[in-house]
Amino acid sequence: MEKIAFFGLGNMGGPMAASLTRAGFRVAAFDLNPAALEQAQRDGCLPCDSVQQAAEDAEIVISMLPSGEAVKGLYLGQQGLLQQLPAGTLVVDCSTISAEDASIVSSAARERGVRAIDAPVSGGTAAATAGTLCFMCGGDEAAVDAARAVLQAMGKKIFHAGAAGAGQVAKICNNLLLAIHMTGTAEALQLGTDQGLDPKVLTNILLESSGNNWSLANYNPYPGVMENVPAAKGYTGGFSVALMLKDLGLAMDAAATSASSTPMGALARNLYQLHGASEENQKLDYSSIQNMFRRPAGT
Ligand code: NAD
Repeated sequence: MEKIAFFGLGNMGGPMAASLTRAGFRVAAFDLNPAALEQAQRDGCLPCDSVQQAAEDAEIVISMLPSGEAVKGLYLGQQGLLQQLPAGTLVVDCSTISAEDASIVSSAARERGVRAIDAPVSGGTAAATAGTLCFMCGGDEAAVDAARAVLQAMGKKIFHAGAAGAGQVAKICNNLLLAIHMTGTAEALQLGTDQGLDPKVLTNILLESSGNNWSLANYNPYPGVMENVPAAKGYTGGFSVALMLKDLGLAMDAAATSASSTPMGALARNLYQLHGASEENQKLDYSSIQNMFRRPAGT
């Protein structure tokens, strides 16, 4: 069975690496955080002390890192991983980064004879755990096809969006829309609750009405409405406000390059910026935007 090197074992990468071991792949894993490495070992990965050790003999390299800087830091430069990988290795970066950074990594890989695709994901931590992620790929069709078996072990939908960076464009469009319907959902649930409705009853009504959407149905932000979502756990785990702000920043940057109008996304970004002004809120799941709409007790 193919050997995979996996970098970045956080909220998403951890369960994704676990899906790969369940599917029978040999996974050598590296993360800067020792606690994440210990969990990866419990999930059947081989924990490694360095990038180089993890990458040894790997036919496929997967990264799930927090930023474009982290991705470029891993692959590029004199000490970068691309210098170590033999020609023909397949690199699959699943992080959400700019299309520009994805293209830089892809070009540098091509110069070394390494095949690289961007394959950001949607579905959140629940889909990462269940192995039902949606992958949006950018890169050569042959490289995307070569990655399919490994992506299928972590997800149920694999799309080829276009050339290098195209997966990232699809992903930021998705997260722009996600931020908009999450903030809208939080606003509507708060209005109904302030008007005396039970948020569970209101949710059930909206689920059968034209206001239904993914945030309402699968990631309800109002505490007590759904189990097993961050709102049920004090907004811990999940997808942090800091990462949502990163993605909305990427969307705004992209909009500037194509002179696209994104007023709703800009508003959602402003709301998240206000919410994330405190460091504590930056670490919470992005559905904690509900707290911005909540009235102080007794008012
Ligand atoms: P996270 O912060 O939970 O995990 C990131 C992990 O990367 C951490 O464990 C960190 O220690 C590790 N790391 C950072 N730099 C490293 C390096 N140079 N080498 C090795 N490890 C390194 O983040 P996450 O929520 O897992 O998100 C990861 C990526 O997935 C982000 O780009 C995010 O935008 C994207 N994403 C997240 C979600 C979600 O629901 N959390 C959903 C879709 C996409």
